[in-house]
Amino acid sequence: MRSMESVKNKYVILIHGGATNLTFFNEKSRSVYIYQLKRVLIKAKQILLNGGFAIDAVVQAVKDLEDCELFNAGKGAALNEIGETRLEASLMEGEFNHFGCILDTKHIKNPILLCEKILKEQQKLILCGEGAEIFAKKNDLDLVKNSYFITSSRQKYWKNNQKEKFGTVGAVAIDIYGNLCAGTSTGGMPNKIIGRIGDSGLIGKGTFADNKTCAISCTGDGEYFSQIDAAYKVASLIELKKLSLNDAIKTVLEEIKTSGGQGGIIGIDNIGNYHFQFTTKGMYRGIVSNKEIRIEIE
Ligand code: ASP
Repeated sequence: MRSMESVKNKYVILIHGGATNLTFFNEKSRSVYIYQLKRVLIKAKQILLNGGFAIDAVVQAVKDLEDCELFNAGKGAALNEIGETRLEASLMEGEFNHFGCILDTKHIKNPILLCEKILKEQQKLILCGEGAEIFAKKNDLDLVKNSYFITSSRQKYWKNNQKEKFGTVGAVAIDIYGNLCAGTSTGGMPNKIIGRIGDSGLIGKGTFADNKTCAISCTGDGEYFSQIDAAYKVASLIELKKLSLNDAIKTVLEEIKTSGGQGGIIGIDNIGNYHFQFTTKGMYRGIVSNKEIRIEIE
């Protein structure tokens, strides 16, 4: 499926744990977030360092973020208007532009693993709700009760109707063969209405990868990212307007800000340049490459 040619010995993976406007961090809670992000990066780095593919590193990183209850994806996902979770995720690889997406699922333990299965078996497919869960069962993926995802801290926010606007996790990577991949997973906007779908589970909106241009994962006000096909727009600005990755991401985030939305984008271009940017107060994020490891929040 992927090219083994032109090994460049250069790899990069970026992760995010969502854009955030929360500023209540004390040193203790900050160090818990940093520790978890670092753990995810180190594991993903091992895959790329050992010659693994971008898709394997992205899936591993997003799965680990889904399993960590600090972030709004998988366990610890935000609750919808009736106090349940409905998950969305997407995965795209850059060589053949194959993708797998799932929307509005209740019982799939790790949405990104189902996206990977769909991508590998069906090449290009979006599955929602019951259909996604039937596909997961057929492929022996773990299904759990909806209560598995619900943590006491999310329930507290929900009951008190507290402001807790953003969250979502994502990863983008380039492997030593030059292949790009992007993945995103979310519980969506807190208190979302039943049936609401954001940008995170959709190709071109919250996630995009093409070896010709870049790999992108977004977080923020899904409706505003969807309105302009944010992830695809970054790639188009690179391909058609010859913008750099940084300028393309900046342009898209400015457009979203002008129309009233907020959020963040992580991206890697096809020669391994990378960029993080956000219009919120912070974004949980980290990068590891053959040269550096860095984790930041504000
Ligand atoms: N983009 C996600 C959504 O709209 C939320 C987020 O990234 O925080 O569902």
